[in-house]
Amino acid sequence: MGDYNSLVYCIRCNTTDECYIGSTFYSIEERIKTHENGLTYFLRNKCNYTSSFQIIIRNNFVIEILEKFNTNKKNLLKFEQDYINLYKYNGEKVVNIINSFISVEDKIEKKKEYNKEYNQNNSEKIKEYRIENSEKIKQYYKNNSEKIKEKQKQYNKNNSEQIKEYQKQYDKERLQKITCKYCYSISSLMNIKKHQKTKKCIDAKYFI
Ligand SMILES: [Zn+2]
Repeated sequence: MGDYNSLVYCIRCNTTDECYIGSTFYSIEERIKTHENGLTYFLRNKCNYTSSFQIIIRNNFVIEILEKFNTNKKNLLKFEQDYINLYKYNGEKVVNIINSFISVEDKIEKKKEYNKEYNQNNSEKIKEYRIENSEKIKQYYKNNSEKIKEKQKQYNKNNSEQIKEYQKQYDKERLQKITCKYCYSISSLMNIKKHQKTKKCIDAKYFI
């Protein structure tokens, strides 16, 4: 491939006009062969589904080399993602499901989502752990209070924009109107607990 070691390609279905964008360090012929072999394995339940299969299986496609590169794996995936984004932006029927490249910001978002989900699913366990280890935790915070304070300060400084944004989102959510499930009054997320202690709501609750 001359000065190039890699390329980004598109497999386009002649029947449906669907596109699959991929990248490879092999020649395009070898890469297509692995797509075809993959489909055979998949049909025998021996490998996982890849979105290219829905094009390959109709056996009526053209391959376009979009750009050649001389680069490393990480950058190649980034270039591939750029093409996926561009094709989607242009209204092409892109079949790729998985993002080939995830930016640092997206990674942070994903991790946050994961942590949130984890905490929700394990809230009982976390509570238990905190109760069982409360003395240890207290001692840890006592011994490391200066370090923790400094770390928190540094974190806030580095993430001030994000924190502001988060706070705004949080306030918005808290003010969001919701309907009380007991008495059907309209309240806000912020006030619902207080509301559910009112006589009106408690009366309604025991008449359901
Ligand atoms: Zn109520």
